[in-house]
Amino acid sequence: MSENNYFVEGKTGLWEVVIGLEVHAQISSKAKLFSGASAEFGADPNTHVDYLDAGLPGILPVINQRCVDQAIKTGLGINGNVQPISVFDRKNYFYADLPLGYQISQFERPIVLGGYIDINLEDGTPKRINVTRLHMEQDAGKSTHDLHPSLSYIDLNRAGVALMEIVSEPEMRSPHEAQAYVKKLRTIVRYLGTCDGNMEQGSMRVDANISLHKPGTPFATRAEIKNVNSIRFLGQAIEYEIQRQLEILESGGEIVQETRLFDPSKGETRSMRSKEDAHDYRYFPDPDLKPLVLTTDRIATIKATMPELPDIKKERFMADYSLSPYDADILVSEIEIAAYYESVVKASTATDTKAAAKTMANWLIVEVFGAMNREGVALDALPFKPEHLAKLVDLIMDGTISGKIAKDIFAKMWESGKAPDALVDELGLKQISDTSVIEKVVDDIIAANMDKVEAYKGGKVQLFGFFVGSVMKALEGKANPGMVNNYLKKKIG
Ligand code: ADP
Ligand code: MG
Repeated sequence: MSENNYFVEGKTGLWEVVIGLEVHAQISSKAKLFSGASAEFGADPNTHVDYLDAGLPGILPVINQRCVDQAIKTGLGINGNVQPISVFDRKNYFYADLPLGYQISQFERPIVLGGYIDINLEDGTPKRINVTRLHMEQDAGKSTHDLHPSLSYIDLNRAGVALMEIVSEPEMRSPHEAQAYVKKLRTIVRYLGTCDGNMEQGSMRVDANISLHKPGTPFATRAEIKNVNSIRFLGQAIEYEIQRQLEILESGGEIVQETRLFDPSKGETRSMRSKEDAHDYRYFPDPDLKPLVLTTDRIATIKATMPELPDIKKERFMADYSLSPYDADILVSEIEIAAYYESVVKASTATDTKAAAKTMANWLIVEVFGAMNREGVALDALPFKPEHLAKLVDLIMDGTISGKIAKDIFAKMWESGKAPDALVDELGLKQISDTSVIEKVVDDIIAANMDKVEAYKGGKVQLFGFFVGSVMKALEGKANPGMVNNYLKKKIG
């Protein structure tokens, strides 16, 4: 693992950027963390609210074991230590969308301690980012201040929904690293099925802590940018914040520890409030909830249900299918894409399985993803079967069609959903690999262009392309390109 620090240049020399992230990930679960109300997104306001979520007195929280299992699974997925005993605390603060007057969270004894997420730097070098902790907590409700000139609206559907907060060590050094970390974490929770990772809907939100210091000096005071809801905005917010802090520090000013908000329409961060310290929240163990005790059996049972995770899958794809790290990264970015790719590979009957698998990766990434983007079609709605894609590549591999013809057939496959071998027959697109046919055409073209042959031999080497093109044209693009090249070389040198 390499340490590749990111410095920004100021008038007074270099500054090192320090970034630590707190990610809130909504746990995928039907019900909320301590009440039976639905956790579904997008319902009419205040229709998914239990007495507890509304803060009615005397209602006791009951822990949702499914949410606990999801947090355990996530902890294991980020290589953390799941704690045999953890404790729920009350984090006290007043806000209209928090009727209880406190958030049930975990403070001193979180469910997961430690862990790490591996990312790649821009040049591809791996870097490990350590995770401090993962704890469970309730989400708050949602306030809307811009629907009425003098009133605020409160929707409590989100109040009490289960969140995991995943806190990193301050080990990121650039906007790229922060983005790579969130992308990787998002991929992992989506593989695990513990959070849908939908940042637009707020299922995953990032608080970014940023500070700048002179290399070799202690870390400086940080500002925290709250609730960033896209990976692109995260990059923009950090870039902006680096410049803002740089200007203040270079002109001899001081950074105040505060919470800031990123405004995507202006591309800038602005102050929201000065930062509370932990003691302002008067954390104390929630007397309504017993400590959460997890047996080693329970943890082991969950561990046994874990899917192969992206880093390991990537290694396997590179080893088994000779993929480049770049291609492997793309194919493991979503568990569904990886599964689709492997179903194509499994359907192949090519003799050189590695070569076929590599070609299939290319086809999937370039042609299929390209067409999906153009047509706005999702992977689960492709107009042809994985077997058809496998067959198409097999036809290239065994020389039945050229790569160029394959593209035409692919377009037809997309339109008609027909199998590629049927299309080859139907359209008469079978590649011509008959030596006598190819040699005859090459000979004819050479005979008709003796002037060009002389010029070629005299040094105009680019004319070789003219001959290949003419032969291809004469045979309607169906000639086996390798055979054409070989025979031409033999004839004109
Ligand atoms: P709080 O809970 O008050 O936000 P924490 O100490 O738990 O404070 O830290 C929150 C986040 O801030 C962590 O992700 C940590 O890595 C990051 N962090 C801590 N110190 C710095 C710093 N000087 N610069 C940037 N990030 C920091
Ligand atoms: Mg914080």
